[in-house]
Amino acid sequence: MEAKKAEVIDIPFAKWEPPKDEGCRVVKSDGTRCGKPVWQEGMCGVHREWEMTMSAAMGLPFPEDQLSMHRFLLRALDLVVSGKISERRLRAMETLCRMIVRNARVGRYEV
Ligand SMILES: [Zn+2]
Repeated sequence: MEAKKAEVIDIPFAKWEPPKDEGCRVVKSDGTRCGKPVWQEGMCGVHREWEMTMSAAMGLPFPEDQLSMHRFLLRALDLVVSGKISERRLRAMETLCRMIVRNARVGRYEV
């Protein structure tokens, strides 16, 4: 009786590569990832600086476009209604938000 030959099955394995650095991990209001070069803690300089502010600690989103500005103001309104900030501060925040948007438009920079 003849011995059976072993059947060789060649399964190609994909070479493992470490995940690519996809840049800043912050997901913007439009659902896209920031992706700018990482500065600290997986974030670009602009988003990392925002993360270290009191506004961010209060849950306010980074006001970088129209939608995030809208979310920012809604959150600010909630802070007023809940008595966490005064209406006067809300008005000051609104004014500053307008200045931020105007500055971004004039400077034609994308945050
Ligand atoms: Zn970023």
